[in-house]
Amino acid sequence: MSLSFAVQPNPNPATPERVAEIHANPGFGKYFTDHMAVATWTKGQGWHDDVIVPYGPLQMDPASAVFHYAQEIFEGLKAYRHADGSVWLFRPERNAARLNQSAHRLCLPELPVEDFLTSVTELVRVDERWVPSADGGEQSLYIRPFMMAHENFLGVRAAETVLYCVILSPVGTYFAEGVRPIDIWITHDYSRAGIGGTGAAKCGGNYASSLIAQYEGYENGCSQVLFVQPCVDRVDELGGMNVFVVSRDGALITPATEGTILHGVTRDSILQVGRAMGLDVQERRLPPEELEEGITSGRFVEAFCCGTAAVISPIASFKSKHGAYSLPPGSGSITMKLRDAITDIQFGRAEDTFGWMHRIV
Ligand SMILES: *Cc1c(COP(=O)(O)O)cnc(C)c1O
Repeated sequence: MSLSFAVQPNPNPATPERVAEIHANPGFGKYFTDHMAVATWTKGQGWHDDVIVPYGPLQMDPASAVFHYAQEIFEGLKAYRHADGSVWLFRPERNAARLNQSAHRLCLPELPVEDFLTSVTELVRVDERWVPSADGGEQSLYIRPFMMAHENFLGVRAAETVLYCVILSPVGTYFAEGVRPIDIWITHDYSRAGIGGTGAAKCGGNYASSLIAQYEGYENGCSQVLFVQPCVDRVDELGGMNVFVVSRDGALITPATEGTILHGVTRDSILQVGRAMGLDVQERRLPPEELEEGITSGRFVEAFCCGTAAVISPIASFKSKHGAYSLPPGSGSITMKLRDAITDIQFGRAEDTFGWMHRIV
């Protein structure tokens, strides 16, 4: 039976003045709406107790397995308000499918696609006033579904009680500095995901293990880190974003996923938009030496990273312990064309020729 996520309204919702104040300067992931969706899964019983409740702390036992063994996965997507006031999701069925791929890898239960879509849709409808108007900018409502072991037991096995939860956060642009080319640190000392590991799953543990390299990047004046796959000598991705380069002759190149890279919805959308624009789209191995050589020789003229949070961020330079590799300043016309093509679809400024948008309000 499918879940319905009945609503228990928040008796103390934020005032309209407070919502307006947050919309004026939302930052990223700092403020949350009036409600959250929750559901519990129990072995033998399946999903139950699906409900939308006032946003608030979860009661967790200190022995809850997620605190000890990190059996946790998450998703990230956004709700976009169009100029006519309607509210839309971008390819949410891809997030639903990916949540289940991550669930499989982490021995968590699958959540039927339909139930995922109901949880997200019903929650955004209840908190619709929190979806910012785009007003020519890029404000949206970030949606964070997540699932975790929720059983009080210190033995090591897949949890037999699991909690699924969805929270919402109004957001502006991801990087404090806005859409500005960023510098990327290539770490050769830490890896994010190994072959056979959890790189293709969206799990919190991947982020925990990426942080130390992120700080190595900060110490070297960079705002993000690019991970390479040491044994097979290929570029993978950033801590939370996929990476692309553009060559002088119009090739759009991104590392093939090969099990260690997260299948980004933005990545996939860029590949489709790139093909439609007539670019020579290549998903293949990209050795870090080729990246460095390509930039030095002038063969690679643009680079960018991508994900739901920041959409597309142009890359100004890569740095590693081997040297610094700057893309030509002022390039980035294909990057910005791809970025505009995607954000125009998301915000309803261009025709949705791919059939990606789902209207929910
Ligand atoms: C979420 C994520 C991405 C981007 O995926 P989108 O679906 O485009 O948001 C890329 N890499 C990692 C490691 C991620 O967790």
